[in-house]
Amino acid sequence: MTTHSRFNLKALLESNAGLGHELHAAHVNPRFATVLRTIGYDRDYVRAEGAHLFDRAGHRYLDFLGGYAVCNFGRNHPTIRRALEDALSLDLASMVQFEAPLLSGLLAAELKRRIGRGLDHVFFTNSGTEGVEAAIKFAKCATGRPALLHAPKAFHGLSSGSVSLNGCDSFRQGFAPFLPGCRQVAFNDLAALERELAKGDVAAFVIEPIQGKGVNIHSPGYLAEASRLCHRYGALFVADEVQTGLGRTGSFLAIDQEDDAKGPVEPDMVILSKALSGGYVPVGAVLVKGEVWRKVFTTLDRAIVHSSTFHQGALAMTAGLASLAAYDETSAAENARRMGARIKAGVEAMKPRFEMIREVRQRGLMIGIEFGPPKSLLLKANWAATHAMDKNLFAQAVVVPLMEDHRILCQVAGHNQDVVKLIPPLVIDDADVDWFLRAFESVMTSLHKPTATVGLLARLGKNALFGQRRESGEPTEAAQP
Ligand code: PLP
Repeated sequence: MTTHSRFNLKALLESNAGLGHELHAAHVNPRFATVLRTIGYDRDYVRAEGAHLFDRAGHRYLDFLGGYAVCNFGRNHPTIRRALEDALSLDLASMVQFEAPLLSGLLAAELKRRIGRGLDHVFFTNSGTEGVEAAIKFAKCATGRPALLHAPKAFHGLSSGSVSLNGCDSFRQGFAPFLPGCRQVAFNDLAALERELAKGDVAAFVIEPIQGKGVNIHSPGYLAEASRLCHRYGALFVADEVQTGLGRTGSFLAIDQEDDAKGPVEPDMVILSKALSGGYVPVGAVLVKGEVWRKVFTTLDRAIVHSSTFHQGALAMTAGLASLAAYDETSAAENARRMGARIKAGVEAMKPRFEMIREVRQRGLMIGIEFGPPKSLLLKANWAATHAMDKNLFAQAVVVPLMEDHRILCQVAGHNQDVVKLIPPLVIDDADVDWFLRAFESVMTSLHKPTATVGLLARLGKNALFGQRRESGEPTEAAQP
């Protein structure tokens, strides 16, 4: 088929080059545009490869955010890109709806082969939140019970159902009433969990094996025992591996490192999304035990009682299959373990010199660096001043210069926590780790000076007033390794 369309993506991008922030501020989310400008994140990325982003002037950035853990195998991985190009050029029959798509059958079989644990059926979604919504419905339907348990600081998405399981007030304010029967259970506390389960009304305990907000890690044995407790009291155990799955923590699933002497973690459902997309096409998957699935999809007239229009489109399924191939090709989990251990060791080696580094929590390339109050008097005043202004400000004081002075993109981990979080693509190499450690050391050196608070305020004020536009002009190599 020939096309006479005048639509030309390249020309559209070229003729509007540099207008991203202006258009965003005018038409999309002006508040977010202001945040980006204030913290110096108003860059103009035009290309990406692996763990690196490039702006219009050709500056290279180190991406330690990975699109919120979407780009595990690096941005624009050639295997995934080629598979998608193939899928497009084949003119596949996608979203016929009344059919059994080959690609979704293949992806479901491949996920089951890799995960095992007696999970028999795969329900595809378009996002992590949709996976959580499916799990909530399946759990209620299969158990006939109304209640759901979640942890403090939990993050399972922001739709009405998933935000009801959110453990951060900042995400909940203004959105009440929530789903009835959602209860918070103390983090890492088996006795508290048992007390809640003993009430006899719990459909499921939904839990992140490692919490995204703050990178909080359970004690060894907690997850395995929690799953056994759930089953003892007739509740389901749902592992939300949306962020931790596909190699992030150094194994295919995070729960793969949590089986204990008494037995394996026994999830009734495992939710995946993010990295399954390859960074290209939104996709998620809920792996479900057969006995749960059969209680939901009970009869022929309930065969699609839970579904959605886009849930197994050909491009999404292709991205999923190709991402699993890229997982193998990049030895993603193994590299995550090696590079993660290097970052942890590097930051811990700085602890004796920088009193505000409190703890490094790390599994693979899911890393939280927590800061704590200093002992020396002058620094104490700085710490108090930044916290009096804003509870997130100290962690921002770390990520802002990492970007502005060293071109490293990362994030503050959640609200009111002094934690900086690193979730880079799992393909980072030794040079990337060196780049980060050098930059982090330099930022720590300036933050451990008495003038640090004044410097930060001056920086934020200047950004808010004048913005950045650093991407214009010649590339300066100063910040690059
Ligand atoms: N569950 C977890 C553990 C997550 O980290 C996230 C997103 O960050 C979600 C669910 C929601 O996924 P999505 O943003 O794709 O809806």
